[in-house]
Amino acid sequence: MQQAGYVHVTGTLVRYYYVCKRQVWLLAHQIVPDQEHEGIVVGRHIHEHAFKRERKEVWLESGKMDIVGMKDGKLVVGEVKKSSRSADSARMQLLFYLDELKNRGIEARGELRFPKEKRREAVELTEDAIAELERVRTEIREIVCMETPPKARRIKYCRGCAYAELCWA
Ligand code: SF4
Repeated sequence: MQQAGYVHVTGTLVRYYYVCKRQVWLLAHQIVPDQEHEGIVVGRHIHEHAFKRERKEVWLESGKMDIVGMKDGKLVVGEVKKSSRSADSARMQLLFYLDELKNRGIEARGELRFPKEKRREAVELTEDAIAELERVRTEIREIVCMETPPKARRIKYCRGCAYAELCWA
């Protein structure tokens, strides 16, 4: 069993946390979802094309983010999603990256993009978001340290989830 202090929290785990806690456990235990699943293929395609002209990436050990540019002297990092249905989890993932950058002395702001909907959303790291992320980091560590995954329960995201066969076959 993993020790909570050794659990490495990543942006993807934060996003999964807001979708399904079972996903968090599965991914953290290296049970990788089907990479040819339609949702993953479409997401990859959108991501590869969304920042074509301005693509620059920055890697932290907690994830990879796209740099969109500079605005008012601050770095702007972006996250692109296929639909605003997943806006809440994508927003928290982006806030997590902003917080990780802040912890390294880099002030940045975020921009969520939904190219299919031609929509953008500015994301700012607030004190409330920092407190929420602290709570989420702790809870993710607790989930990952469980000996078995949280039970599958049907939610609206199951239909598009690459783990669906594992949960419901
Ligand atoms: S299929 Fe449903 S229960 Fe299973 S990991 Fe995906 S979202 Fe969670």
